[in-house]
Amino acid sequence: MEKFATARDAALKLRPDVPVYCFHPQVLRDDARKFVSLFPGRTAYAVKTNGEPLVIRTLVDAGIDTFDVASPAEFETVRRFSPDAEMLYMHPVKALSDIRLALENYGIRTLVVDHEDEIVKILRIARALDIDQTTITVFVRIATKGHAAYELSKKFGAAPAHAVELLKRLHRIGFKTGICFHVGSQVEESETYERALASADWVRGRANVPLAGLDVGGGFPAAYGHDPNNGAPDTPTLETLMSDLRGSIEKWEFDDLPLVAEPGRVIVARAFSLIVRVLLRKGRRLYINDGIWASLSDSWTGKITLPARFIPDPNIRRRNGDPSNILPFKVCGATCDSVDILTRPFYLPETVDTGDWIEIGNIGAYSLSLRTRFNGFYPDTFVEIEQPFDAGDAPEGSASLETMAD
Ligand SMILES: *Cc1c(COP(=O)(O)O)cnc(C)c1O
Repeated sequence: MEKFATARDAALKLRPDVPVYCFHPQVLRDDARKFVSLFPGRTAYAVKTNGEPLVIRTLVDAGIDTFDVASPAEFETVRRFSPDAEMLYMHPVKALSDIRLALENYGIRTLVVDHEDEIVKILRIARALDIDQTTITVFVRIATKGHAAYELSKKFGAAPAHAVELLKRLHRIGFKTGICFHVGSQVEESETYERALASADWVRGRANVPLAGLDVGGGFPAAYGHDPNNGAPDTPTLETLMSDLRGSIEKWEFDDLPLVAEPGRVIVARAFSLIVRVLLRKGRRLYINDGIWASLSDSWTGKITLPARFIPDPNIRRRNGDPSNILPFKVCGATCDSVDILTRPFYLPETVDTGDWIEIGNIGAYSLSLRTRFNGFYPDTFVEIEQPFDAGDAPEGSASLETMAD
C-alpha cells in the first residue's frame, strides 16, 4: 500500500478519479487501546462495522483478542489473522449449518439467543457433535429502549419476562448463561445504558440462575461533524460515557460478573478517511464519484454528518467566488439511481469546482463494509496516511468552532 503524509498529498500525487480509502493504522491502534483501557471488561470488536483484512490484522497487532462475529465469512476473516482469538457468535438468528460450522470448525463456545427455537437449534447441533452443554455459554439478548441514532431493539431482543424464561430454560438444559443487550448505534446519552442495565437487573432477579457474564453490546459513539450553523451536538465523550457506564455497572451490582462490550463504530470510525472527486459541479450541487451504494450509506440515513475537507486541484487557475465563504452543497452520488443523493449537505468553500477533491473524515465505520457493485462502481483503492484526519486543517464541513474563531 502506498504511504503518504496527508490525504492532500495523496490526492495531489495520485490525482485519483476513483474514491481512495485513506487508512490511518496508528489511529486505529490508539482508538482500540483507548477503548480497552476505559472498559472494565473484555473488548470484542464487532467485525461487521469494518471487516477489512487490514483492519482485523491491525487490531490483532494492537492486542484485540476477542471478536463479535455473525457469519461464516466473519469467522473466517478473524481466524485468518488470529489462530487463537476468541469469537463470540452474537447473531440472535442463525442458520443451523452456521451454528454447526461455528461449534465444529471454529471452536466457538459463546452464542446468543432471543427465542426458544434458537435454543433448540444450538442444543441439536451440540448433541450431534457430542459437545458438552456445560462448555457452551448462551447469552440471552434482552430488548432495550433508548436513544441511539440507530435503534436496534425493534428487530432483536426478548422482552424481559420472556428473557427470564429463556435463561431458566438454558440453565435447566445445562448451558452456561449470560445476559446481553445492544442498545443501538451512535448512542447519544449515558442513560441508554443505565436503562438497559436496570432491565438486565430485573431479568437477573427473576431468573435467579447463575450468570457467566454480562455483555453490554456496542453503540459507543464516534465523533462526527455537524452543520456549522448549529453548535456541536452534545454527544458525550467516550471518557464521560464510560465513566457513567462504570458507575451504572456498580450501581446495579454487575461489577462482580465478567463483562464484555462489543464496540464497532467507536473503534474504527476515525481509522479511515476517504478522498472523493467532484465529477461535476452544477450550481450548488456536487456530483461525486462515491455515494450511498458505495461508502456513504451510513450518512445517507441522515443520522450522521460527515466532516469534509476541501482539497482544491491546483491545476484549476480560475475560480469564482470567495474561498472563505463556506456554503452548503448538495452531494449527488456516482450511480444513476435517483435516490443516490446525500441527505445532509457538505459545507465547502464556494470556489469548489469540477475536478476538485474532498476528504471525508471519520468514515471507517459502516462505509466500505456496506459498499455494493451497483452500476459497476466498487471503490477498492487504499493508501496509508500518517496524519490523522483531525490533525489537519479544520475541515470546512464540520469544525464550526475553529471556523468561527477564524
Ligand atoms: C452492530 C453491532 C455492534 C456494534 O455496534 P456499534 O454501534 O458499531 O458499536 C455490537 N453488537 C451487536 C450485536 C451488533 O449488532
